[in-house]
Amino acid sequence: MSTDISRYTITAALPYANGPVHIGHLAGCYLPSDIYARYLRKNEKELIFVCGTDEHGAAINMKAKSEGAQPREIVDRYHEVIRGSLEDIGISFDIFSRTSKEVHHKTAQDFFKKLYDKGSLEEKVTKQYFDEEAAQFIADRFIVGECPNCHFNEAYGDQCENCGTSLSPTDLIEPKSRLSGAAPVLKETKHWFLPLDHLSGKIKDYIQAHENWRPNVYGQCMSWLDAGDGLQARSMTRDLDWGIPVPVEGADGKVLYVWFDAPIGYISATKELKGEAWTDWWTKEDTKLVHFIGKDNIVFHCIIFPAMLMEHGGFHLADEVPANEFLNLEGRKISTSRNWAVWLHEYLEDFPDQQDVLRYVLTATAPESKDNDFTWSDFQTRNNSELVAILGNFVNRVVVLMQKYYGGALPKPNELSPADESVLAEVAEAPANIADSIEKYRFREALSRMMNIARLGNKYLADEEPWKLIKTDPQRTETVMYVAAQVCAQLAQMMEPFMPFSAAKLQASLGMNKLSWSECQNKELIGPGSQISADGHLFSKIEDAMIERQMEKLKTPSESVNYSPLKDEIQFEDFEKLDLRVGTIVKAEKVKKADKLLHLEVDLGFETRSIVSGIAAFFDTEELAGQRVSVVVNLAPRKLRGVVSQGMILMAEDSEGKLKFTAAPEDMPNGAVIR
Ligand SMILES: [Zn+2]
Repeated sequence: MSTDISRYTITAALPYANGPVHIGHLAGCYLPSDIYARYLRKNEKELIFVCGTDEHGAAINMKAKSEGAQPREIVDRYHEVIRGSLEDIGISFDIFSRTSKEVHHKTAQDFFKKLYDKGSLEEKVTKQYFDEEAAQFIADRFIVGECPNCHFNEAYGDQCENCGTSLSPTDLIEPKSRLSGAAPVLKETKHWFLPLDHLSGKIKDYIQAHENWRPNVYGQCMSWLDAGDGLQARSMTRDLDWGIPVPVEGADGKVLYVWFDAPIGYISATKELKGEAWTDWWTKEDTKLVHFIGKDNIVFHCIIFPAMLMEHGGFHLADEVPANEFLNLEGRKISTSRNWAVWLHEYLEDFPDQQDVLRYVLTATAPESKDNDFTWSDFQTRNNSELVAILGNFVNRVVVLMQKYYGGALPKPNELSPADESVLAEVAEAPANIADSIEKYRFREALSRMMNIARLGNKYLADEEPWKLIKTDPQRTETVMYVAAQVCAQLAQMMEPFMPFSAAKLQASLGMNKLSWSECQNKELIGPGSQISADGHLFSKIEDAMIERQMEKLKTPSESVNYSPLKDEIQFEDFEKLDLRVGTIVKAEKVKKADKLLHLEVDLGFETRSIVSGIAAFFDTEELAGQRVSVVVNLAPRKLRGVVSQGMILMAEDSEGKLKFTAAPEDMPNGAVIR
């Protein structure tokens, strides 16, 4: 059923207020949503663009505890950092709110109460770990213990990061609370569940009505819906002392699940912005609701939030959820805890007045259909050979020649050649082509179509050579410069959604106003007599030294990098007990039903040993034969997944958990002693 759209409600995922935002967040949802919002405004559409910080949940509590601070201090600090950096990079929210605000607490509580009163929520008593010293229930992530699968000592209650197995807290051997270090006890607790299992038919109908969604989004939703046991009821409350109190009897000490309250934050922010009229933006069928998110939020925005809205009733559901995949950094996954990231507030300090360069590079490499990689060398190349050499160069030539020949006053065109006509026609068609890409959420394609205008301009100047023509045919030169100025003017307009800072500069130097999108679909955007100023400089070359500095910065371990703590001192005799030898791997195969384990045969000179090693994630079995290794040979044998392991291979491990073999000299025989 298609209705004419009267208004657009655009949301960008609420950034979590326990740290600053990085380029992955920017590429994931803030830039695409901003381009879309700026495009709609230029089309004179009615829209709101809402966002704000997500300030509840166990992770904020944990961060506060680790710093000896109050959760309030943490969220206040990061709200300011995030708000400031997103504003400085030009994300044009109509409102950037906070989920800790009164209006949000009330909206979220009323929403919950409505579901509760309707009988939509199932009340269940379950057993959960409780920390008696800290006197509170503990979130899964904040319980550590030995992994039942790989026996890693620091596995979390929801997952072992060593072997990747997904766990529940009761699977852990000797669990400990990260809050107090105490052994937790199981205790009964009551929670309210959203019965996604009963709602799955309705949710499936909703998803299947949106087969046009990006394949990654649609596919992920369908795989959740079609999974073996289907959707499971999900608890919408938590035992925690930071969050929105559950507004029903007998819920003391309980708060709303952060993923229950966070998406309601979009609605609260709309109330704050529009007052009573908020309902137009959330309940009317002629509203188009678009959620911009990263792929890790798909299930919450496509399944859980719509299910909440359906149960509540009266809401318009999301029309589009253009979720992006992940952006990696220099070939590795961005990691905030390991500080493998380019932080937005730091970029803005290091590259002042170059907001548009980052906006350009992140849009040109946006992970729209698959994960993509950001590298500093690509950043430099795109700046120097695209922004400077193509776009900047064209604009600069037009502005400089215009000064030189006409003192900046745009001449009247004389007779137009077929080449002129064709360039002007292409310029007038560009807005429709760019709009077509943006409407399909293909922002990379839209940006490249915008850059094609600059390419067209450069080619036109190279073909017509006004710098030669001025000596022989001043009349023809006037026409050429008039046409080139139209190309330049179209660029000034079409850059706006992508590079708003440079667009404003160029518009000012051309003496133009912002035009509406339909006004741009015109062969003459700037009229004869217009005064063009000399200041047309938009982009500067980025030198190698600046890129090297950024690479150094990535390598510099910051305080947040996790180094393993140093172990206790030992005596020489303790060390002497170890028998270390040089060996060579002769055979390697995977251990059945154990993703991380390899079964190795290692030639130690005096014998060949069977050794099981947890390195499968890092090496292919084929490449291991012939690998020289250092081996602990007097370790008591043990059985792993039914295979006897008689020794241990020494490995070097970095703070990312990346493994490499320790050096074993090539010219030493197998069995040589290491001491
Ligand atoms: Zn494990």
